Amino acid sequence: MTGRTHDLAAFTALSYVMVTTPFKEITLATAIVAFTANMVGGLAPDLDQSTASLWHRVRGGSMLGKIIAPLLGGHRFLSHSLVGIFIAGILARMFLQVASSVLYVDIDIVWWAFMIGFISHLFMDLFTHDGIPLLFPIPLKLGIPPLSFLRIKTGGLVEKSFVFPVLLFITICLYYFNYHDVLHILRNLS
Ligand SMILES: [Zn+2]
Repeated sequence: MTGRTHDLAAFTALSYVMVTTPFKEITLATAIVAFTANMVGGLAPDLDQSTASLWHRVRGGSMLGKIIAPLLGGHRFLSHSLVGIFIAGILARMFLQVASSVLYVDIDIVWWAFMIGFISHLFMDLFTHDGIPLLFPIPLKLGIPPLSFLRIKTGGLVEKSFVFPVLLFITICLYYFNYHDVLHILRNLS
């Protein structure tokens, strides 16, 4: 999937969790940082390719990408697996723990937002031709449906004219049908 689709999928997943979870009050700062963490999480698994959109969004990123991407074993390797989710979760936790000394936000919410983005990325990649090595180190690429020729081509017509609009539709429905809950959350931002 393209970065644009992953961004939207991460946001859709975050919105779903937000409207289905009994919510505690959050601050505006936490909401903003959580939204950012969700977007970063949604693109983070593709840091294993130097051309990834996340690398291009930071200064000096393309250079850094050329160094770090090979360390992750190449595209759709460690970062696209259950072990990858686990490692990313620990690293994000450690990073947030350090950042919490200067960033006054609820790091639990920010961490969850990041992880939801990360997991949504792997979920979306399951539908693509290449599949993902979910059970790494078992060298088996899995996908939905199991027959790879039935899956979607990244950046192809199906992604652009079906997957993206469907995600957009789901997101709009989530906000439309949970309008009052969303309003309640927004009103209680402090
Ligand atoms: Zn990916």
